[in-house]
Amino acid sequence: MERYQLFIDGRFCDADTGETRPTINPGNEEPIALVPVATRNDTKRAIEAARRSFDEGTWAGMSPKDRAAKLMKVFEILKSKESEIAELESKDGGSTIRKTTMMDAPVGIEHFKQLVELGAALPLYEPLPWVDFPFVSWNFVNREPIGVCAGIIPWNFPFMMAVWKTAPALIMGNSIVLKPASDTPLTALELAKAIAEADLPPGVFNIITGSGSVVGPELCTNPMVDKVALTGSTETGKNVMRMAADTVKKVTLELGGKSPTIVLEDADLDLAVDGALFGTFFHAGQVCESGTRCFVPASIYDKFMAQMLERVGHIKIGDPQDFETTMGPVVSKAQLNTVNGYIDLGQTEGARMLCGGKRPAGMNKGFFIEPTIFDNVRNEMRIAQEEIFGPVLSVIRYNDVNEAIQMANDSIYGLGGAVFSRNVPGAIDIAKRIRTGTVWINDYHLLNALAPFGGYKQSGVGRELGPHGLLEYTQVKHIHVDLTADRKKRFWYDYLFND
Ligand code: NAP
Ligand code: MG
Repeated sequence: MERYQLFIDGRFCDADTGETRPTINPGNEEPIALVPVATRNDTKRAIEAARRSFDEGTWAGMSPKDRAAKLMKVFEILKSKESEIAELESKDGGSTIRKTTMMDAPVGIEHFKQLVELGAALPLYEPLPWVDFPFVSWNFVNREPIGVCAGIIPWNFPFMMAVWKTAPALIMGNSIVLKPASDTPLTALELAKAIAEADLPPGVFNIITGSGSVVGPELCTNPMVDKVALTGSTETGKNVMRMAADTVKKVTLELGGKSPTIVLEDADLDLAVDGALFGTFFHAGQVCESGTRCFVPASIYDKFMAQMLERVGHIKIGDPQDFETTMGPVVSKAQLNTVNGYIDLGQTEGARMLCGGKRPAGMNKGFFIEPTIFDNVRNEMRIAQEEIFGPVLSVIRYNDVNEAIQMANDSIYGLGGAVFSRNVPGAIDIAKRIRTGTVWINDYHLLNALAPFGGYKQSGVGRELGPHGLLEYTQVKHIHVDLTADRKKRFWYDYLFND
């Protein structure tokens, strides 16, 4: 079994205790590889290396173009390992090999390149308007790296999330300590290998695998860390924000969601049914922006639901490493228990379970649960308010579109959502009234490295991707240059007074 190592200060090493733990394939519950259990001390070492490398200024002082050249080498190495990454991603997290081959690996690698290219092209100099009061001065803004960034990532898209944290931090000139989720560290560790091979200055990129409750508090409280970027649950986000408050670190948080899909009467029914199913059951529902509340008009309700129940039967649940499988297991036993708990709760709350709710017949190993659809759901029920993070859809009937929008917004979350309609201008008007960071029209889940992604309300703080996301990895400095060089006006207030 492969035994992975931490990467700290340009060197691979074990945890200081030598301790390792196996990661598990959620499809068959078998161990895949051993990873180090990093301690608080290992975390300190990684932070110190990142700090030293940043303060020495080799990486931060390079031109964006030179940094991009180094990072494009990482991209080339990743590209050469694409199928390996796809396979490992499927085994470690239970994503279908179909998805990791077509999406996680190629899109993650492509995002790495796009973020590097976009970051390298962002203007770091921003001119400010001409100033001639009280005297003539030239003013401009300089964009600088923030310093040492901690990137903490979840288990649902382990490789893509590693890319989304690492590429922006590095191209903008920061140093980073990356912490993958304990359930799915392997592809982030492969990214570390690619970075090691590309020979970045030591300490610029570091990775530590260890429990969030142990290494997390060090990353979020150590005064040497300037910024924490977390993708994870809202609970962890609140915790991170509290911990980061004492040293006033910058934080960006990508957290949970309970996103709405609003189907309009004039929707293309086939498209809307498949869109709603894809929006919920893609990656067994373990996607932060999943459209887990589907609002359907009463006028087409029966037809829509009949078609949905027919189509959901086409989802092929099974071994994630089989190319024919379209839905795999959830990531862990703990996650399966959470999902099952919500399925029981939905029934207790009086919703009607139309399909699913159980382990697929004949599958005794692995953390599998069938796609589950509830109707007769009221938006105030807990299954419609709380993030389940599994293959469970709540369908809510509505009469008037204003009522649908009001319910869509009646949530502590605000991450994603969709509108299905043939009237695109009308759908755009509705999209503008949905209080979330992304709204798809006649589509779902398609993220774009050039567009900002993030949450309103308790779904997060800040944005990732696109120029907005890259600029979150910079500090803004105002530089004022006096253009008159008149000694008397050093005390300009008096000078003006006497004039
Ligand atoms: P999680 O439990 O919050 O874990 C996320 C990361 O935080 C993991 O690396 C975890 O480490 C770490 N962590 C745990 N406790 C910590 C602490 N006290 N201090 C610092 N770090 C800590 O979330 P998850 O269960 O892995 O992921 C699912 C959640 O992520 C869902 O709620 C989902 O909506 C959200 N998510 C959001 C987005 C987005 O872009 N908005 C994307 C994907 C997922 P360990 O693994 O070692 O515990
Ligand atoms: Mg695993």
